[in-house]
Amino acid sequence: MENTEDNKSMIDKIQKIKQELGNKLVILTHHYQRKEIVDLGDHKGDSFGLSQKAASDENAQYIVFCGVHFMAESAAILAKSHQTVQIPDLDAGCWMADMADAYLVEKAWNDVTAIVGQNRVTPLVYMNSDAYIKAHCGKNQGAVCTSSNAPKAFEWAFKQREKIFFFPDEHLGRNTGNHLGIPENEMIVWDPEKPLGGNTEQDIKQAKVFLWKGYCLVHTRFTTDDMDDMRKNFPDAKIVVHPECTQEVVKSSDAVGSTSFIVKYVADAPAGATIIIGTEINLIKRLVFEYPDKKILPLKDSLCPNMYKINLKNLLECLENIGKTNIITIEESIKKDAVIALENMLNL
Ligand code: SF4
Repeated sequence: MENTEDNKSMIDKIQKIKQELGNKLVILTHHYQRKEIVDLGDHKGDSFGLSQKAASDENAQYIVFCGVHFMAESAAILAKSHQTVQIPDLDAGCWMADMADAYLVEKAWNDVTAIVGQNRVTPLVYMNSDAYIKAHCGKNQGAVCTSSNAPKAFEWAFKQREKIFFFPDEHLGRNTGNHLGIPENEMIVWDPEKPLGGNTEQDIKQAKVFLWKGYCLVHTRFTTDDMDDMRKNFPDAKIVVHPECTQEVVKSSDAVGSTSFIVKYVADAPAGATIIIGTEINLIKRLVFEYPDKKILPLKDSLCPNMYKINLKNLLECLENIGKTNIITIEESIKKDAVIALENMLNL
């Protein structure tokens, strides 16, 4: 952030509003937000941690979510009737979430259950999804999960029924399946553009996990060639990546985990360690700043333009219009079912 008069004045105004509102206001900031936004937040974390905060903070009348739209939606689903959830920029969406269109998800679900039978598939949906998809999972006794608790969610889902339909991130689903030792040929990709997702009836009957063909453009940019290049230059380095990366990248890494895992991995590393990270660049920049005694490098610069839409200007505007603008509302019928899927996750 440039240390301009303008920026300083906006920060002063934000802090003044925070002081005036006291514990009536809570600002949640995702790890991928710019440093100046994280510095102004009350809580920073990944989507799981922040959704727990949003659910448990009864005092807060106003929840301002500095993250992308689906995160604010999840907070709004869990919010109590006296709470409003606002997002500084309503256009901060998520490409991955947009890949699971409600109509196509419903169609895929009907196709699969028509072949394997009702009550044989548990739907699991990654937090990075539209409220409608979460509601679809709640309605069909499924759960939401995050990159922190995906393995637990898979184990829970298999206790309910013998198959899982995982939306919308193919890579998180496959990496989780690999971690749990599910054979490769029992996980099939569902391409919504193709009849039966590009599978035969036989494939569908035999599969244990259906993986919706969605992906994160930020995390699938990393390749094993990037890793080889970095290892040549930094032979003692450890490489830690996010599970939205491809399985090839995950398998070649030294460690894999959610953003919170990555933060802890860096915190726990000894002074002098070299750590190369495959995730969103704003988190990495912040870690470089916080741990000057360690050498922290990005596997490649990869920025999420949607997360980057939140800035001092729109955060200030949002706070100046607290409870009035950019409010996230969820239809009651969707909320009722989505809450089931979110609560199933919070109870994992
Ligand atoms: S990093 Fe990827 S999954 Fe996360 S908000 Fe950005 S596009 Fe969506």
